[in-house]
Amino acid sequence: MPLEPDHDLLDKVINLAKRRGFIFPSAEIYGGFRSTYDYGPLGVNMLRNVKQAWWRSMVQLRDDVVGLDAAILGPPAVWAASGHLATFTDPLVDCRRCKERWREDKIDGVCPNCGGTEFTEARAFNLMFKTQAGPVEGEGATAYLRPETAQGMFTNFMSVLTTTRRRPPFGIAQVGKSFRNEITPQNFVFRTREFEQMEMEFFVPPADADSWYRYWIQHRYEWYLDLGIPADRLRRHEHAKEDLSHYSRGTTDIEFLYPWGWDELEGIANRGDYDLTQHANASGVALEYFDQQAGVRYTPYVIEPAAGATRAMMAFLLAAYEEDEVEGESRTVLRLDWRLSPYQVAVLPLSKKAELEGVSREVLAVLQPWFMCDYDVTQSIGRRYRRQDEVGTPYCVTVDFDSLSDRAVTVRDRDTTAQVRVAIDDLVGELRGRMSPQ
Ligand code: ATP
Repeated sequence: MPLEPDHDLLDKVINLAKRRGFIFPSAEIYGGFRSTYDYGPLGVNMLRNVKQAWWRSMVQLRDDVVGLDAAILGPPAVWAASGHLATFTDPLVDCRRCKERWREDKIDGVCPNCGGTEFTEARAFNLMFKTQAGPVEGEGATAYLRPETAQGMFTNFMSVLTTTRRRPPFGIAQVGKSFRNEITPQNFVFRTREFEQMEMEFFVPPADADSWYRYWIQHRYEWYLDLGIPADRLRRHEHAKEDLSHYSRGTTDIEFLYPWGWDELEGIANRGDYDLTQHANASGVALEYFDQQAGVRYTPYVIEPAAGATRAMMAFLLAAYEEDEVEGESRTVLRLDWRLSPYQVAVLPLSKKAELEGVSREVLAVLQPWFMCDYDVTQSIGRRYRRQDEVGTPYCVTVDFDSLSDRAVTVRDRDTTAQVRVAIDDLVGELRGRMSPQ
């Protein structure tokens, strides 16, 4: 049976995220700042883990993809060539009754505010944030905040090609902030004006573009499954030819079942030679590859898997959230993959008594080089287990009075709540055995 969207889930996750320090509304002491968010002590760990898991899969484990970290500020020429200045727009309408402004394609002809059905003509609104570089205002000083990371990979194509001596097929990957002046930011961090992306441009001989396009759809789909999103909440949706963007020869979205229904998690597109050709024409610099063996010069096609780091983090939180019962008591548990959890291990001295502190700190020091650890001495041990379950910590290590004589501790598993006694000397080995990358 297909799953139904769970409407309470979003509120529960937003609440947990705020209460436990994952995601705070930005500038809250000033009343907040329209749909911007800050990642708190737990959120920053988790977001780093999401980006790290992507980097590992896309760069570290491959010999055909290299990394890049390009500037966020860019001159208008880049965005003119990419097409963003002319076409990166949303159609906007104003409700004639309540005067609210909406994205025409998102409201199905009915004002979500007042139910009105009369609107002004749609007008194009450019989504890029415009600013000025340097102290003098004027056309020459105009700069834009990037609305996607991808253009950095195209403008650096030749530099990367020559400095790394790559040949197609090869890719350039980047993780970083992007900015879009979204008209209707919504659904927590699903759509925000400032967000983080994880994108990779994979340059291929044109004849191989379709098979690489299929390859990357499958590869990216499996990444989410591998990190714990259940298969029944994930699907691939191929865009019909008539719905494709002007540059695209094929686009498939990986969609997740959010609490409001199926929606985009990531897009994989076959962009053809659009981007390199545009930048070559506009800059006057040839952006081609000369295949010496075949004696041919060509403009590679680009396959682009474009994901959102902040949006993916939200999906991982939603998918991991569960309420169950342990020993007759209800608990909230985030069944996060250990690679994504803010903390992998929590060290919990059974009591605050001074005798336990020395050995507890010793255990913490042994674990910290290997794992992100929390250390918590307040309240009953049961309460502390629940607190760790709620933020997805896969293992708790409890130090008790016996530890002083037997030099062992109790390791508790978040998912099964099973406990085993482990010698302190074997602890790192035991936990690394349970948490080792494949
Ligand atoms: P949408 O149609 O939802 O506005 P898009 O198709 O324009 O998104 P892309 O340009 O393909 O999105 O961006 C790639 C990925 O970047 C998206 O799949 C999403 O994960 C992320 N992303 C895009 N816009 C935002 C945003 N405003 N907030 C958070 N993440 C975003």
